[in-house]
Amino acid sequence: MARVYNFSAGPAVLPEEVLKEAAEEMLDYKGCGMSVMEMSHRSKAFQQIIDEAEQDIRDLMNIPDNYKVLFLQGGASQQFAAVPMNLKKNGKAAYIVTGQWAKKAAAEAEKYLEVQRVASSADKTFSYIPDCSDLDIDDDVDYVYICENNTIYGTKYHTLPNTKGHTLVADVSSCFLSEPVDVEKYGVIYGGVQKNIGPAGVVIAIVREDLIPEEVDDTVPTMLAWKTQADADSLYNTPPCYGIYICGKVFKWIKKMGGLDAMKKHNEEKAQILYDFLDNSKLFKGTVAKEDRSLMNVPFVTGNEELDAKFVAEAKAAGLENLKGHRTVGGMRASIYNAMPIEGVKALVEFMEKFEKENM
Ligand SMILES: *Cc1c(COP(=O)(O)O)cnc(C)c1O
Repeated sequence: MARVYNFSAGPAVLPEEVLKEAAEEMLDYKGCGMSVMEMSHRSKAFQQIIDEAEQDIRDLMNIPDNYKVLFLQGGASQQFAAVPMNLKKNGKAAYIVTGQWAKKAAAEAEKYLEVQRVASSADKTFSYIPDCSDLDIDDDVDYVYICENNTIYGTKYHTLPNTKGHTLVADVSSCFLSEPVDVEKYGVIYGGVQKNIGPAGVVIAIVREDLIPEEVDDTVPTMLAWKTQADADSLYNTPPCYGIYICGKVFKWIKKMGGLDAMKKHNEEKAQILYDFLDNSKLFKGTVAKEDRSLMNVPFVTGNEELDAKFVAEAKAAGLENLKGHRTVGGMRASIYNAMPIEGVKALVEFMEKFEKENM
């Protein structure tokens, strides 16, 4: 059995330890005589799994008691609708458009309220984060929305926008648990877990309690009202049990690795190796403004599409997989999430050096 270095943007690499543990517990979870996939979500064993998962993410992110942690389904994309449905009061929201995911979220929200696009980096193919220190935000917006790490373009907010006192909502799908966060700066933090935490099928939403409305419009589906899952501790209906179980194991793995401070250090080290190489390479170029670079997703190009394709193919043959850039931007992208070992990044850089020599 040989595992490759998997640079996929998502679903993405998971810690090998976690996968091994899950394999060991596959047929008989802790003496239950069945796998976690086969047990009732109302069983004691599963209750313990979800309770521990919640406690562990609370510990990792230092989540204050007045925030609910919801384990949901439907992907991050479903929250594009749930956010406006739940937060709509005045019927207006401000969106900062820094890539495809923010763009999609804004378009979806527009079905339910008035969307003001208060800043955008579309003019330079989303290769930077706009200055958000003094945006023209109406007083009566219900919230300000960002996609904190732009998975496709490889940018990240290193300073949160000045929301002028409004509730900040962030899609953190591709930077979840990659570094410490100050939860209190946000009203809502949510993300699909398949980028940095677990298997696709789980979305975690961390919502300040006072933002969960008692009542929503009759037209809001029961499953999309946060209150439904908040009141039921994420067990209103059958949750994505197995996915939550794996997320729980990843939380424990991060704790063992030293928590989010250690994750940040580990991620900075990895990213630096790759960015340093890109900054000095004669063949490869990073595509993002330096000050806005993501620690998680690193897009780069040779400037020649044929050479890009050759690189992706030869890298794959060398055990470095999923380096092709997003279909909307081309080039390459290395996603180097928490679970990507530093050896993987070193192997990638060595391969890039070799490729550069052979093709210059
Ligand atoms: C992948 C991704 C999404 C979409 O997630 P789904 O779970 O497929 O809906 C949304 N936002 C960001 C930032 C992403 O990286």
